[in-house]
Amino acid sequence: MPGDPELQSRGRLIRSLGALREMLPGSFVERQRACGRPNCHCSDGQNLHSQFQISVLIEGQPKTFNIPAQLVEQVRQKVEMRHRFDAAAATIRGINLRRFLKQKEHP
Ligand SMILES: [Zn+2]
Repeated sequence: MPGDPELQSRGRLIRSLGALREMLPGSFVERQRACGRPNCHCSDGQNLHSQFQISVLIEGQPKTFNIPAQLVEQVRQKVEMRHRFDAAAATIRGINLRRFLKQKEHP
């Protein structure tokens, strides 16, 4: 059935997943902190530094890793890739379920 729009859309989704191969698990976290240097702008407790972290489950245990400044944008995008991957997988599962139910009705 080359004209089936759901199959076309499933095919497009499958083909788009390769672009998400660098996806990372976990969540992207921004924390505010003081560095401790007395003359730094953060010593007023207001203008704190941003520390970006990635928080993941490893064997069921939550772990948090600091992200070096030069990798922050990259890691943010790679975590976002996983959300897109999950959304695509959910759509594909939905299409396949509808196809199964249709097949069941009209064997
Ligand atoms: Zn500081």
